[in-house]
Amino acid sequence: MASFRVMVGVKRVIDYAVKIRVKPDKMGVVTEGVKHSMNPFDEIAIEEAVRLKEKKLASEIVAVSCGPKQCQETIRTALAMGADRGIHVDMSTAEFEASTPLQISKILAKLAKEEDINLIILGKQAIDGDYNQTGQMTAAHLDWPQGTFVSELTPENDKLKIVREIDGGLENICIKTPAVVTADLRLNEPRYATLPNIMKAKKKPIATKTPADLGVDIASSVETISVEDPPTREAGQKVEDVDQLIAKLKEAGVV
Ligand code: AMP
Repeated sequence: MASFRVMVGVKRVIDYAVKIRVKPDKMGVVTEGVKHSMNPFDEIAIEEAVRLKEKKLASEIVAVSCGPKQCQETIRTALAMGADRGIHVDMSTAEFEASTPLQISKILAKLAKEEDINLIILGKQAIDGDYNQTGQMTAAHLDWPQGTFVSELTPENDKLKIVREIDGGLENICIKTPAVVTADLRLNEPRYATLPNIMKAKKKPIATKTPADLGVDIASSVETISVEDPPTREAGQKVEDVDQLIAKLKEAGVV
């Protein structure tokens, strides 16, 4: 029976419930004083890793977060959910904001080698940059198979049976490990960390490294030209009945 050494990427992002505000200079969004949380797909990735460990299919779970020092809180959440230890890859806020999946995937690939990992579970997408690239790029750097948009993951010896969510249906594949998988929404429902587990997590180790320690150049290859608010929607109109609705639609040339 396989025993996976699992690495999970946990990105600290602006909480999904926060209303995003563009900075006055239009070069990014306001992050200061704004509630941050673990990227929701990364909670699903951690949950899947913990379930593998509970089934004795994983021997260790390492939670990795790249970004400023507050990422340690995100790692603590992962530890409280059941990860064994954390690695914080320290980047300044400016470096983090300028980073793209190219830099992050190089870091994750390097760490996977250093830590002798044979299964990487990431979220399918981070809800801030919406790239949906880090898993794919990490697999490419390592030359490992990948299973993306995963809604079911079943280890079979050293292979993984995977159900992928694709347009209009599901795809069943089987990949060899070591591998990279990315979690989709329906993979599982992440648990809440219980108070005793939050207390226990305080004692779990978090190592800190820099991209330079890993030999990764994090200079961004992408220049932000401007960030714009979405266009504001015009106010709607209330209609009394169906006849009035049809009249309005005719007026607007829709029917
Ligand atoms: P993305 O390609 O940016 O949409 O991110 C996909 C996934 O890669 C996320 O759900 C995380 O699992 C992982 N990831 C992206 N950025 C980071 C980061 N700064 N630290 C840790 N994991 C990350």
